[in-house]
Amino acid sequence: MQDVIVIGAGASGLIAAIFAAKSKKKVLLLERNQQCGKKILVTGNGRCNYFNDDYDVCRYITKDENLLNQIMTDQNRDDVLSFFESIGITPRIKEHYYYPYSNQAVSVKEALLLEAKLSHVQIQNDILVEDIVKEKDQFIINPKKDHLVSHFLILAAGSKASPKTGTDGVGYALVQKFGHIIEPVLPALVPLKGQASYLKSWSGVRIHAGVSLYEDGVKIKGEVGEVQLTEYGISGICVFNISGLVSLKLKEKKNIEVRLDFLPELALGDKRLQWFEKRNRLIKNRTIEQLLEGLIPYKLVSILLKIAKISSFKHWDELTLKEKETLIYTIKSFSFPLEGTLSYDRAQVCLGGVSLKEVNPDTMESLLCSNLYIVGEILDVCGDCGGYNLAFAWVSGMLAGKGVGE
Ligand SMILES: Cc1cc2nc3c(=O)[nH]c(=O)nc-3n(C[C@H](O)[C@H](O)[C@H](O)COP(=O)(O)OP(=O)(O)OC[C@H]3O[C@@H](n4cnc5c(N)ncnc54)[C@H](O)[C@@H]3O)c2cc1C
Repeated sequence: MQDVIVIGAGASGLIAAIFAAKSKKKVLLLERNQQCGKKILVTGNGRCNYFNDDYDVCRYITKDENLLNQIMTDQNRDDVLSFFESIGITPRIKEHYYYPYSNQAVSVKEALLLEAKLSHVQIQNDILVEDIVKEKDQFIINPKKDHLVSHFLILAAGSKASPKTGTDGVGYALVQKFGHIIEPVLPALVPLKGQASYLKSWSGVRIHAGVSLYEDGVKIKGEVGEVQLTEYGISGICVFNISGLVSLKLKEKKNIEVRLDFLPELALGDKRLQWFEKRNRLIKNRTIEQLLEGLIPYKLVSILLKIAKISSFKHWDELTLKEKETLIYTIKSFSFPLEGTLSYDRAQVCLGGVSLKEVNPDTMESLLCSNLYIVGEILDVCGDCGGYNLAFAWVSGMLAGKGVGE
């Protein structure tokens, strides 16, 4: 008989188990994979962007922003950072993004595992939790097979994103058994796919560009950064950061459009035209194609000219004002032929999950089932790229670990 069983040895489960064990609880951590923290290893391209100290609720998509603010308090975030310092993870901070000083995700995973061991957390790998029953204030895990029993249960089973790391959404079914409602789950932080014949031609281009999402012609989110043009569509951090809203708006059948700005530094309004006129005066005797080279990757130039219906052999001075404006509009407000997102295999996180309304924001205890705690990405909290998702996993896991100790 255990005091606490934690399901899932990912980010939130590991920290929850450690904090529960620190309060002298007997803790058993169950993980379906042969190794713990498999997903931690792939975070931040193997460097683990484990935190971001520039917290703002607008960096997250959740139905309950007020509750998220109550969880992600300054105090809780400071406590998580102090905890990491205490287990030897000194940060390397780049514009609010925290990485381990070693620049290796494995350092974070190993530091957590060592701390779990030193705190006497018992870990059992290769165990898939498929069923949980609650009888007389006790949780029984896999009653017909393993029959593991505890007073408290912390569910840290993650979402459906990146199933190869162990998360295929099985946690949602476990928590639904206790009456919890799951907000619709959709892929997020994921590339966008499109449908157009030119995608094959632009594949391989990496470009500094703006990516914006419009609903009914009004911009609702966007940022500038490196965009990868691929044969299925577009990828890159600024694409990921609008992808959750794309998933949601497509599901809601909203009228949305994704626009790319291939010259994001070029000013708005009339100045754009003047800028091109000046470039044309400066670089004489060039076709329009040659005029654009040096500004925009070659593969893209011919696509942009085709879409703007302008012959690549023409010179700038030969274009009508309308043609010039169409060309600039095509470069700066390129309408991506959006079809959808790639699937969970390519998603870093999921939108949706257990509603925050159904947990106590101070402890993460379920409001529907006493002594059940729900933490991490299985909850309806989806952050932008930049350490926001792990920050939520650590804070919620820490709160639950402390919660069972109280
Ligand atoms: C490629 C990639 C890169 C990312 N990079 C970053 C980044 O740099 N910064 C950032 O903040 N976020 C990043 N994320 C997101 C971040 O990793 C997750 O939000 C975070 O790991 C969620 O933590 P969690 O504990 O809720 O779930 P997970 O870390 O997914 O852990 C859940 C664990 O539960 C186990 N499990 C599931 N079901 C069961 C079951 N029934 N029985 C037993 N075990 C079970 C799983 O095997 C898994 O180990 C990235 C994600 C991916 C895929």
